[in-house]
Amino acid sequence: MPLNLEQQILSIQHILQEIFGYREFRGPQQSIIEHTVAGGDALVLMPTGGGKSLCYQIPAIARQRRGLGITLVISPLIALMHDQVGALLEAGVSAAFLNSTLSGDEAYQVEQRLLRGDLTLLYAAPERVTTPRFLAQLDSLHQRGQLSLFAIDEAHCVSQWGHDFRPEYRALTVLHERYASVPRMALTATADTLTRADILERLQLQDARQFVSSFDRPNISYTIVEKRDATQQLLRFISGEHLGDAGIVYCQSRKRVEEVANLLCDEGIAALPYHAGLDNKVRQANQDQFLRSEGIVMVATIAFGMGIDKPDVRFVAHLDMPKNIEGYYQETGRAGRDGEPADAWMCYGLQDVVNQRRMIDESPAEEAFKQGLRGKLDALLGLSEATDCRRVRLLAYFGEASRPCGNCDNCFSPPAVWDGTDAARKLLSTIYRVQQRDGISYGAVHISDILRGKNTEKILQRGHQSLSTFGLGADFSEQQLRGVLRQLIAIGAVTVDAQAFNTLQLTDASRAVLKGEVAVQLRQSVSTPAARKAKRAGTSAAVKLPAALDLPAQERYLALKAWRAEVAKEHNLPAYVIFHDATLAAIAQRAPQSLDDLQGISGIGAKKLEAYGQQVLRVMAAE
Ligand code: ADP
Ligand code: ZN
Repeated sequence: MPLNLEQQILSIQHILQEIFGYREFRGPQQSIIEHTVAGGDALVLMPTGGGKSLCYQIPAIARQRRGLGITLVISPLIALMHDQVGALLEAGVSAAFLNSTLSGDEAYQVEQRLLRGDLTLLYAAPERVTTPRFLAQLDSLHQRGQLSLFAIDEAHCVSQWGHDFRPEYRALTVLHERYASVPRMALTATADTLTRADILERLQLQDARQFVSSFDRPNISYTIVEKRDATQQLLRFISGEHLGDAGIVYCQSRKRVEEVANLLCDEGIAALPYHAGLDNKVRQANQDQFLRSEGIVMVATIAFGMGIDKPDVRFVAHLDMPKNIEGYYQETGRAGRDGEPADAWMCYGLQDVVNQRRMIDESPAEEAFKQGLRGKLDALLGLSEATDCRRVRLLAYFGEASRPCGNCDNCFSPPAVWDGTDAARKLLSTIYRVQQRDGISYGAVHISDILRGKNTEKILQRGHQSLSTFGLGADFSEQQLRGVLRQLIAIGAVTVDAQAFNTLQLTDASRAVLKGEVAVQLRQSVSTPAARKAKRAGTSAAVKLPAALDLPAQERYLALKAWRAEVAKEHNLPAYVIFHDATLAAIAQRAPQSLDDLQGISGIGAKKLEAYGQQVLRVMAAE
């Protein structure tokens, strides 16, 4: 039976096309949206860039059109609400946010619109939502049947197992207790089983339907390299493959962020620092510039990035190893949201492992909790040391089976493997002997010096040249031994005692390795980076042009970009909120002469066609 006009307008397919200008739903979006429009509770697990926003925005529109009222979106990042709401307004959806950046008067205006039923979506931070004043307003809407849906974004913040616990999220149980009949959906890109169970319990979503998407991000290429001279390696990576691209470089400490940002600037790369120690204004300004300009590299601690929905971030680099795979995956997921090729590049070394271990050991948490953290760190180390497909490993971590991807460093050039079992035994036995003799242990450098038979001052001073393992490992390079040590630390056969100058200690698990019962397989260290596939040609510091366009189309593309920059500035919004690069490229390709020609280009909804159609045609006519 054909839909009547009213049904058509209500249909989610229609909203997708008319408002957002997209032709098809992506992955499980359609079933999530159908379920939510019908009033079901949901837990949505989808990777970053998977398209979570539409999963609540379309139900919000559909339910508002049915007279069910407003959707409340709870999001932890007030700094980004402005752009999210801006994007909705551009698409012609009535939306607003309530947060501390608004003046008292502005907030009052929003509250009035809320109570009048004048909004389809309202974004607010959890601490705002749970204030008595706001709850009273929700009560009033609820009594009138005008509270349509709660969307709890970044839902992993409710769990201390997630990597970004926010205590304010705990108080959100009030939504369920007070408004049991209002459907709720929790969305996150992070969810190992532990975190998932925690979200369900904490937010009382045990009966919600769970939508678990594939976590694969096929357009992201993964590379993990061993640290030598990290900043030089980073520089080579950026200048070799990403000049002129927007990217994020994650560093462990604030100091390092500053250093690296300066270094990149010295090399002519437009880089900005971001960390919690910077003045609030500076931080905000740097973030704005990253979002609004093209080709900026943000050098940051993990304080940066949650909720950053800039679609054209072409690379995410980790200069230091993150804490765990969840964090790594979430951070790398900020690359390539637009589906175009992007890189995740990480550099890791023994010191990273030692530092992370120390942070865990020194934290005041309970032992069982620390044990969990150590396990997570080991899993990431395992990924770093892996000699098989990175993606297969990553997905397996999230419980997903897959085949070698052909788009990671190990797939491009399978690394040689060497058997480190013998080296591992010799290392352990050196640690054992020194400990036996001196009653104390030593750090990694000294232990491997003994094994390699180096006559350092320290060795001669302490008489360690007479140990039976002295020089037994002369054939191993320092690099190799460091690799072996990382593995031993990873499997728990060696611990690093942070209380005693990072000395190496044996554990119960050492015995099996000493006896040769555990095989230690290692990546062959390569002194030059493996030849990487040239993924995109024509890298230059100038504006990147879509390779598929012919010359006249490229000129149209550049003209459109210049026009878009003007509009974005006028509206105080990032350029991608006006149109994505891919939309501009499609327009340039089509060379439209009439509004009709613009119809059906992905990313041009009805409101945007109306607002910008004529302007675009004028830009085209001038070319
Ligand atoms: P997430 O919140 O899951 O990280 P977003 O909701 O920000 O992802 O979506 C990522 C990008 O994909 C956005 O730029 C969005 O406009 C785009 N997108 C989402 N769904 C679709 C779709 N069905 N068709 C085309 N583009 C989409
Ligand atoms: Zn692979």
